Amino acid sequence: MSKVTELFGSMVFNDAVMQERLPSATYKRLRSAMQAGERLDSEVANIVANAMKDWAIEKGATHFTHWFQPMTGFTAEKHDSFISPVGGCKVIMEFSGKELVRGEPDASSFPSGGLRATFEARGYTAWDPTSYAFIKDGALCIPTAFCSYGGEALDTKTPLLRSMEAISRQALRVLRLFGNDTVKTVKTTVGPEQEYFLVDESLFLRRRDLIFTGRTLFGAMPPKGQEMEDHYFGAIKSRVAAFMKELDDELWKLGILAKTEHNEVAPAQHELAPIFSTTNISTDHNQLTMELMQKIAKRHGLVCLLHEKPFEGVNGSGKHNNWSLSTDTGVNLLEPGDTPHENAQFLLFLCAIIKAVDDYQDLLRISVATAGNDPRLGANEAPPAIVSVFLGDELEEILNAIDADEEYIGREKAVMKIGVHSIPRFAKDNTDRNRTSPFAFTGNKFEFRMPGSAVSIARCNIVLNTAVAESLRQFADELDVASDFSSVLHDIIKREIHEHKRIIFNGNGYDDAWIAEAESRGLLNLASTPECLPHMIDEKNVELYARHKVYSRTELISRYETAIEEYSKLINIEALTMIDMAAKDFLPAVSRFTGDMAAAANRKKNLSGYIDCTYEQETISQLSELCTEAYSALNKLKKGMADTKKVSEPQSLAEYYHDVIIPEMNALRRSVDAMEPLTASDYWPCPGYDELLFGVR
Ligand code: ADP
Ligand code: MG
Repeated sequence: MSKVTELFGSMVFNDAVMQERLPSATYKRLRSAMQAGERLDSEVANIVANAMKDWAIEKGATHFTHWFQPMTGFTAEKHDSFISPVGGCKVIMEFSGKELVRGEPDASSFPSGGLRATFEARGYTAWDPTSYAFIKDGALCIPTAFCSYGGEALDTKTPLLRSMEAISRQALRVLRLFGNDTVKTVKTTVGPEQEYFLVDESLFLRRRDLIFTGRTLFGAMPPKGQEMEDHYFGAIKSRVAAFMKELDDELWKLGILAKTEHNEVAPAQHELAPIFSTTNISTDHNQLTMELMQKIAKRHGLVCLLHEKPFEGVNGSGKHNNWSLSTDTGVNLLEPGDTPHENAQFLLFLCAIIKAVDDYQDLLRISVATAGNDPRLGANEAPPAIVSVFLGDELEEILNAIDADEEYIGREKAVMKIGVHSIPRFAKDNTDRNRTSPFAFTGNKFEFRMPGSAVSIARCNIVLNTAVAESLRQFADELDVASDFSSVLHDIIKREIHEHKRIIFNGNGYDDAWIAEAESRGLLNLASTPECLPHMIDEKNVELYARHKVYSRTELISRYETAIEEYSKLINIEALTMIDMAAKDFLPAVSRFTGDMAAAANRKKNLSGYIDCTYEQETISQLSELCTEAYSALNKLKKGMADTKKVSEPQSLAEYYHDVIIPEMNALRRSVDAMEPLTASDYWPCPGYDELLFGVR
């Protein structure tokens, strides 16, 4: 095992390496700049860059790159080598402080929404020293923020860092009011559980839908699906185990705390859970994890599907975002404390979160809205599109007792008085039973279960951090001027519980009755991406982000524009892929099959004596009917796609894709899927669900 400890972080220019390789004065200046989020002066930057380069070269690196996260949700890099000519046909390896702290990739080919029109397309990347540099594929990667020359964020990291600062600022105000003078920063922590599918690469390569869109656009259910639930936590097949081992090794080299790997509910589905770290780092690490999963799968003849819904009728993949708040002194603020005083503080933070989720339901919903996640949410395997909070019976009883000034009939048999009475610590099994809630308290953290597997967790954490910062700001403003701290504190907690009770729901989120009940409670049910995205720029949301300096109005509008365009682009690719596959693969295959079958029946008839051809006749007739149906659905979809040209306004276009094109795609899929079980396997032009889901041995 000592091997693992040696492996771990071996490709990271982390604190230990810095300490070892930098002159102590430089190290100290770097550390303090990192902690204070300050810029490095050029002298320090040059020394750090040189040490980084020497270290990277020793590890076999020849290139460096600024590694950043544009609004595509993917990561981007542009490699430059360290070489620099010195004459006489010789080179030396060089890396300057300037190259470390600032880069200038061409920003014009990354999405920028409205920012493109307003600002220069050029952008720059700036080193984020709160996330360590690392080596990947022979290149020294420097985590960076990506901004326009006007200073507008063109990425997901910058607003995430800003939101972390916002929540730290407000949480500190609250902690000071509770008499805490020692804590210097409060960081949000995240442990994202990542689900994914593995399919055989040779099968993958025979499906253009998987190649172009990452999901199957056609496919009939095999005789066996996930109903036996024999895959969940089941024995891991040897090929998958080999993949997981190599993945762990590579993740560990990058200092990523991969902890748990297991099978998921659906066949061919798996999950990786890391140990949590601060939000910024776990976001970087989750991006790297997704990248490495795909890369390493290839080495094992597999393809890793990160799409939220690769197979219809089979559970999709999500990314559970476990979220909490932690002080630099190591205290988890969502851990109920040991003293009544600590508990009052816990309850105030809890109320801040409940209020934030209620006030900004729309933003949380939007943070998980993508074309890929739409078919997953509410499909009886993932929470519905309605945001609600699960607290568990015990905690809900406590809140109810506070609300009603009533006796709490739990362990504490007295009127629950904040700041006087203790509340119990919550055992995980008391709080973790509800798997159907979108936002569940799990003992000392909240688990947000709506995010899809493919999307960057920066999106939902920006919302969570900022919305909770806003609740805390309002509480701190009130407490700042309170003459009697305890009684105002009590009033705030009581009031907030009362006002935001509607968002608390401990029941079954998969139940249809919940949809009706949520509506009567006045909760939002924004069913699709085109429906929810415009709310991103509602005035209340613009104000929230501006107040906490997370997004300017222009930056927010650019996020909306990028997202709405991305939706239309994705559905467009899917529809075109379906047209292509139906016209070139499925219809010709079925026609060939029925033709051959008719010829076979004729040959049978030519034999002497009576030969029954019922099978051939009925199959041909059923398939011919379905073929006609599919052909007409295909033509309708083609016509629908031609009409997209008539819609130019991006929001209307996304709505058109959602309201017109998707139903037409579904109709085409239904008739093609109905032909699949009637057609001989060797005629069917691509591998079916049975092979894809059960093909990896
Ligand atoms: P399990 O669900 O397997 O019993 P846990 O509930 O302990 O495991 O953890 C699930 C995920 O939540 C893990 O990724 C873990 O690192 C993360 N997690 C645990 N504590 C925190 C915390 N305080 N903040 C953020 N994430 C956390
Ligand atoms: Mg899971």
